[in-house]
Amino acid sequence: MNIILLGPPGAGKGTQARVLAENIKLPHISTGDLLRQNVSAGSELGRRAQEFMNKGELVADALVTEMLLERINQDDTRPGFILDGYPRNLAQAKALDSALENKNRSIDIVFYLDASEEVIIQRLSGRLVCSKCGANYHITNMPPKVKMTCDRCGGSLYHRADDNETTIKNRLAVYRKESHPLIQYYEDKGKLKSILADKDPAVVLREMLRLIGDTRDSAKV
Ligand code: ADP
Ligand code: AMP
Repeated sequence: MNIILLGPPGAGKGTQARVLAENIKLPHISTGDLLRQNVSAGSELGRRAQEFMNKGELVADALVTEMLLERINQDDTRPGFILDGYPRNLAQAKALDSALENKNRSIDIVFYLDASEEVIIQRLSGRLVCSKCGANYHITNMPPKVKMTCDRCGGSLYHRADDNETTIKNRLAVYRKESHPLIQYYEDKGKLKSILADKDPAVVLREMLRLIGDTRDSAKV
């Protein structure tokens, strides 16, 4: 099963993708995480991407798409994948569709995690990320058991450089202009499932698992 998580920055895509991946045993692929790994490693891609990431702009389609297609060509994605942060615009959605079509595959479900702007800003300004495994926490909503330490792997937590007021505002503007039209694109294809992501993480996960179950059942009929 091939799943996309759509939604504004801070809607909870990364948080949900991680637990969903554990539940349904599919790889979680976050283009933001892959780009940050390239930045940390000092690769050519990382050097080219960093300036755009710091400003909250999209990294060039060609670079991100090449990186994503390379990842979804790996063997562990054969049973399916959970995409988080890709596609971010119509050109990326079309590139993904045609790459999958060439492999006789397609997207099965697109979850649109819908959250209010007030919630998004509160979430992004308090987000903490593990420097080792990438798990997400929040200063007040989802605090780690030990201060600034990851519950899962013991890695140290940090604030993302792009989670500052100016960049958050720009990321929201870029989202509205570039990514929001994807909702209609997937709605027209009959793939979209909207979820109220303002709710408790466990409630959001339960709803996604229910919809995945329904989709699997209808594929069997
Ligand atoms: P995205 O990947 O969509 O940008 P994240 O998953 O990183 O969003 O979540 C943003 C922040 O909000 C993180 O600090 C996370 O811990 C917190 N968060 C995620 N989902 C919820 C939720 N349902 N309720 C409260 N806080 C949440
Ligand atoms: P995220 O971790 O999804 O919040 O992404 C962080 C930053 O990485 C974004 O603000 C963009 O600069 C860049 N990025 C991540 N995914 C993409 C993508 N699909 N297309 C272009 N840029 C991306």
